[in-house]
Formats: sequence, C-alpha cells, structure tokens
Amino acid sequence: MKNTLKNKDISQTPFRRDVLKIFNSHKNAIPLSVIEQELSSYNRVTLYRTIKSFIEKNIIHEIVISGEESKYALSKENKDTPYQQHIHFKCRSCNILFCSELDKAITISLEKHKIERLDIQAFGICNKCNIS
Ligand SMILES: [Zn+2]
Ligand SMILES: [Zn+2]
Repeated sequence: MKNTLKNKDISQTPFRRDVLKIFNSHKNAIPLSVIEQELSSYNRVTLYRTIKSFIEKNIIHEIVISGEESKYALSKENKDTPYQQHIHFKCRSCNILFCSELDKAITISLEKHKIERLDIQAFGICNKCNIS
C-alpha cells in the first residue's frame, strides 16, 4: 500500500496513508461522507486536497451518477494507461456502486472528434440482491 503513494510520486503523510487505508478497506466506491466518518480526526480542506491530488495522480477516480453524491474508488494500477476502461455498476436495491472490468474493450468513434475516455455506467440488481 505504501508503494501506491511512492509509485505515484506523491509524498507520504500519515493523513494520506489513513485516507488510502480507507479506500483499501472498501471493495465498493465510497462517498466523501464515509471517508469522513472513518477518519478519527481531519481537516476538511486537507481532506479535499488529498482527494484532489489522489485523483490527479490516478490513485482514485471519481464516479458521478447524476443526482447523487460523488463516489470515489481506487484506480487500477497501470502506469502506461492513465485511464483503464471499465464499467461502473450500481445496484438499485442495495445502492452499492462498484467498478468492474469489461470482458472486452468498447470502442466508439466520433467522426473528427477524439474520445479520450468513455464512462460506462450500468444499473440493475447486484448478485447479492438477486439471490435474496
Ligand atoms: Zn444489491
Ligand atoms: Zn471505476
């Protein structure tokens, strides 16, 4: 885990390590409010700056679903591709939101335009909710 900060060329502070630890302990994407709850003490400005620099360094990424609080999830380690194509799945029953890999890359082309990133969001019922 320490390597994540080191590899990303971002200095390790106890606070940054704590925030990263929270991300590592969650399988699903989490909103800022969850991070705030789990930090024993924090300064809101420092937390915002930490989240911002984590996003800039592609340690985490922001997931925006319209009408909802932004959520954040760890990014896949990949130095070569700053953006790893994947899908975000949101369960309408338990509300979890998570990143999942695609079985095949999706390519879309727009004449004369350059697509740098494709946000793919899927909504439905997760496997846990599907059983019960
Ligand atoms: Zn569910
Ligand atoms: Zn994601």
